[in-house]
Amino acid sequence: MANSSQDKLQRRGLMFVLSSPSGAGKTTIARKLLAADPGIGMSVSVTTRPMRPGEVEGKDYHFTDRTSFDRMVEEGEFLEWAEVFGNCYGTPKAQIKAGLKAGQDFLFDIDWQGTQQLYQRMEVDVVRVFLLPPSIEELEHRLRSRGTDSEEVIAGRMARARAEISHWDGYDYVVVNDDIDACFAKVHGILQAERLSRTRQTGLVDFVRAMMR
Ligand code: 5GP
Repeated sequence: MANSSQDKLQRRGLMFVLSSPSGAGKTTIARKLLAADPGIGMSVSVTTRPMRPGEVEGKDYHFTDRTSFDRMVEEGEFLEWAEVFGNCYGTPKAQIKAGLKAGQDFLFDIDWQGTQQLYQRMEVDVVRVFLLPPSIEELEHRLRSRGTDSEEVIAGRMARARAEISHWDGYDYVVVNDDIDACFAKVHGILQAERLSRTRQTGLVDFVRAMMR
């Protein structure tokens, strides 16, 4: 499709946060969004955890050691960071700020706590979307069908899922994921509408001024 006049207008990028309990389809929706929309890219975090086979430095994560990570924390180089299962993860400020200014949108696959931190720091640049499963029974069914986990592991996952769901009201948009394609269309619609927000379209003033001359 040819670029419309509007697509050529300068605009500020946005930070698109997708959260959901595990099993509600967040990873699938995130992948579809990245594949369908060249204007949005994944935010690449810094982590102290060892690289897993198949992972690529700079694509999956920026891998570093604890000393460097702590120094980055001290120097305020993260928009948010957290320790998860003994490893540290953080969102580097510099790359995001430069990207936003250049009109690049970033996708964040983070939990409610990371979302809260990000929102406190960046407020107007953040669009928060929460995905809900159609029901608790369906969520449990999806978690069970993943493999041969013990009852204990399933119960732990369900408890974490309930805890995550309890934070649904900290989001701007909530989408129930009954059907992947329908859910994706809604999430993509949110992204497209948010891009058209007047305050993000920094090129509008000049565009309209030229039109009225
Ligand atoms: P993994 O080690 O499996 O890639 O990720 C473990 C956990 O760390 C996941 O729950 C993931 O969402 C979280 N995580 C990854 N990057 C970041 C980040 O930059 N900030 C926060 N708060 N969590 C992250």
